[in-house]
Amino acid sequence: MTTTAKRPRLAVWKFASCDGCQLSLLDLEDELLALPQAVDISYFLEMTSAVAEGPYDISLVEGSVTTPHDIERAKEVRAASRLVVAIGACATAGGIQSLRNYAEVGDYVSTVYAHPEFIRALATSAPISAYVKVDFELRGCPVDRYQLLELVTATLAGRAPRIPTFSVCQECKAKGNVCLLVASSVPCLGPVTRAGCGALCPSVGRGCFGCFGPAATANTSSLSARLAADGATPEAQLRLLRTFTAGAPEFAQEAAAQEAAAQEAAAQEATTRGGAAHQASASEAAAQEAAGR
Ligand code: SF4
Ligand code: SF4
Ligand code: SF4
Repeated sequence: MTTTAKRPRLAVWKFASCDGCQLSLLDLEDELLALPQAVDISYFLEMTSAVAEGPYDISLVEGSVTTPHDIERAKEVRAASRLVVAIGACATAGGIQSLRNYAEVGDYVSTVYAHPEFIRALATSAPISAYVKVDFELRGCPVDRYQLLELVTATLAGRAPRIPTFSVCQECKAKGNVCLLVASSVPCLGPVTRAGCGALCPSVGRGCFGCFGPAATANTSSLSARLAADGATPEAQLRLLRTFTAGAPEFAQEAAAQEAAAQEAAAQEATTRGGAAHQASASEAAAQEAAGR
């Protein structure tokens, strides 16, 4: 029987996040009861206020780095941990809060807080890996609880976790779904998004919006061309790509291309409107002159 002293020590940390990924661990229900027998839960404030000092064998890190204090904490977690695993879209790609990376963070701070002078915020929301070495990343918003269990189990067994890197489309096909993109021209990021959710959204008639982040070898420009052919404007595509994983490089790069296209379209429309207005006012002036003769 495993003794308490020999159990690997697990810590779960929160940065800028909604706690949803930590809750996925608690949502394990049946398997949750076995967890404390396999690991010594040394630091997990979402579960218990009893905390133990490091070092830790596995640190699960939820949330993104958004303040100077977060950077220091990330370094402390790294120093105290043998393995660091980033869990969820926030920890692996900056999360939905990385939308601030495309705006002036000071504008938000002064709008949201009564005393913005007390707020110390970084200009960007970044994944943990931007500041410290991360041993494994688990995607999703939130992460899939069974992938989380597989990750912890594999780590304890000293083997590589079986986590897919292919796209949501593969899961969608395996479920026998009719493709929303092909059959109904519904914008869907499934072809470029990593599997793991069991094609949750397409299975209920909704296009995927990429919360598991980019799949391996995601061809975002090819999908954009297909979405454009189906009538999606650059602005619509920009909104699709900049949601839960706006900071993931593959999505960010394509979003930048769509943003440039949207700006170009707006400039062209303004020029066309300006030209039409100029022509209308010239015609009116000519009509008035003719009436005056
Ligand atoms: S990835 Fe999603 S569920 Fe997880 S902490 Fe971030 S916002 Fe919450
Ligand atoms: S509905 Fe979306 S995820 Fe499913 S097969 Fe079509 S493109 Fe892929
Ligand atoms: S289908 Fe896409 S958006 Fe929906 S849960 Fe899966 S990865 Fe996330």
